[in-house]
Amino acid sequence: MTESPQSFDFASPREVRGAGDKSTISNQKSTICLIPGDGVGQEVIPAAAEVLAALGLEFKFVEAHAGFEHFQKTGNAIPDETLAEVEAAGVAMFGATSSPSTTVDGYRSPILALRKAFDLYANLRPTFSLPGKFSRPNIDLLVVRENTEGLYAGRERREGDTAIAERVITVKGSERIARVAFEKVDERRATASRDGGRARSLTIVHKANVLKVTDGLFREQCLKVAAEFPKIKVKEMLVDAMAMRLMRDPESFDVIVTTNLFGDILSDEASALMGGLGVAPSANLGVKAAVFEPVHGSAPDIAGQGIANPIGAILSAGMLLEHIGQPKAAERVRQAVMETIQAGILTPDLGGNAKTKDVTKRVIADL
Ligand code: NAD
Repeated sequence: MTESPQSFDFASPREVRGAGDKSTISNQKSTICLIPGDGVGQEVIPAAAEVLAALGLEFKFVEAHAGFEHFQKTGNAIPDETLAEVEAAGVAMFGATSSPSTTVDGYRSPILALRKAFDLYANLRPTFSLPGKFSRPNIDLLVVRENTEGLYAGRERREGDTAIAERVITVKGSERIARVAFEKVDERRATASRDGGRARSLTIVHKANVLKVTDGLFREQCLKVAAEFPKIKVKEMLVDAMAMRLMRDPESFDVIVTTNLFGDILSDEASALMGGLGVAPSANLGVKAAVFEPVHGSAPDIAGQGIANPIGAILSAGMLLEHIGQPKAAERVRQAVMETIQAGILTPDLGGNAKTKDVTKRVIADL
């Protein structure tokens, strides 16, 4: 084990410990598993870890492997040791991994494997205005995406000249994701006085007019849960109309709940409102573990150049802090990101010429 709170060179140390006040967080929650993965994941996860370490809290960081590069070296995309590290820590930061678009024998997507292994059924993807001209103003929405079933259930097969993907929607899966979404609206209503009394509501997004059985079930379960939250305004919208409304009047949305693939697409679309994939954070929540990751992928087009935007990963670290009961630290991270952007320290995807390390350094200075 190497003690090195500020340097996250994954080539050498297996464990590093953040410096700081031991009293502020319970031992139970002090380990964070870091899974950089492939491409820019290897650049943005060290950046997020440096920010976490700089907070002065007691964190022990444990690095674990996953990804296509690891698969090519070892024949395993996500070793059992990685799953064990995530289970032991309870929380992990995940970068991104590369997945080929053709079948590669023995390769499975590590993030899908993690979601399955830990039943990470709730994917929270917030979009909010950032203080730059690349961002639309007055936006504060949250996509709550079912994360384990739908078209990503992994039931695909070929029968002769026909390829079939089964879209799995269950009562349990729909009911529990609807509950998370309503609870999130409730939580956000509690902060309404701080954000100018913004209207809080839930929009159920589906395509039940065509997918009457699968999305019919999803819609039915969401409306059933709605009965338990009579104070929350509920709207529903077909996914194609939603894709348009998200661009036309995003200010009118608060929490959006939807199925797996629709949520994946809509949240990527929503990220454009705040500046693009480089700045969008997310959380994958389950009962036994939680994995936090920027929404973006491994970005092979810019990997290795030192210009990946670390903000999506840093804001994901903020979501981790919130999750482990450190809301003040989470707010410090979020504010530091805002100040960094306001100061114009921007990577090329946001129109600047700063490097990953410049943004990270400035966020740490602004903490
Ligand atoms: P991508 O998100 O990697 O890249 C899309 C575009 O956004 C690219 O132009 C890229 O340069 C840019 N971008 C992404 N992250 C950025 C950052 N931090 N800073 C600045 N610009 C950034 O999506 P893609 O190109 O469709 O996929 C590339 C690979 O990533 C594929 O192998 C795909 O399977 C994988 N992927 C993985 C995950 C995951 O692990 N969770 C998610 C999506 C895609």
